[in-house]
Amino acid sequence: MAKKHLLTKSKYIRGLQCVKALYYDVYHPRWAHFDAETFARFQKGRDFENTYKATFPQGIALNQLLGHQMDLYPGKTAELLSQSDEVVLFEAGFLYDDVLVLADVVHKSSEGNLSVFEVKNSRMAKKVFLSDIAIQCYVIENSLAVLRTYGHALHLSSFSLVYNDGSGGFVVEDYLPDATAAMSDVARQVGCFRNLLYAPEPSVRMGVQCDSPYPCPYKLHCQSCETFQSSSLPLFEQ
Ligand code: SF4
Repeated sequence: MAKKHLLTKSKYIRGLQCVKALYYDVYHPRWAHFDAETFARFQKGRDFENTYKATFPQGIALNQLLGHQMDLYPGKTAELLSQSDEVVLFEAGFLYDDVLVLADVVHKSSEGNLSVFEVKNSRMAKKVFLSDIAIQCYVIENSLAVLRTYGHALHLSSFSLVYNDGSGGFVVEDYLPDATAAMSDVARQVGCFRNLLYAPEPSVRMGVQCDSPYPCPYKLHCQSCETFQSSSLPLFEQ
């Protein structure tokens, strides 16, 4: 049976923004509210990502093979990486330390070297993108180490961000050294999130974190809770 996951890349990034938002993502995802602007941004991101994927016509799309059966992605990915001489995978799945990540594009050379590409419809690097790459690098490096114990000579050789150059082209930059340097911090953070998710709901007041780096989808819920709490305060005579 496929191993279950507790966290995903998106949940990890959400937790870095606000631990209460992570808690809601896991236990109350129906409280999320995404406005039309956010949906439009998601769609533009997917369109840009698909344009980049089209530069690998031989790519195998795991999402077309497995759909929403998320826990099957790591096994299928390991099977394809282990069997083929050279292969390109889209949405390749890796699982380690209860965290599931799906890499946008993974190219494996015939020598077993993996180049991973994270595609962002952005004109510049942002701090949150480095966190995005760091969690993927942590999971992928450790997953490959497990596969090597079964005799598969697989190594992570680059981890690139793919940006929009503003004129329909791509800028590709390798961040593997930065991501590797951040791995011990990622391991510690994953442990903190795991403990948090087995504890009662954390108490967090609304603040600057609600819009940075992304607008939080739980703002309506938190606003209504804070309005209710302030209207329930006892009244004192002046
Ligand atoms: S709205 Fe703000 S306080 Fe509430 S979960 Fe989101 S980031 Fe946290």
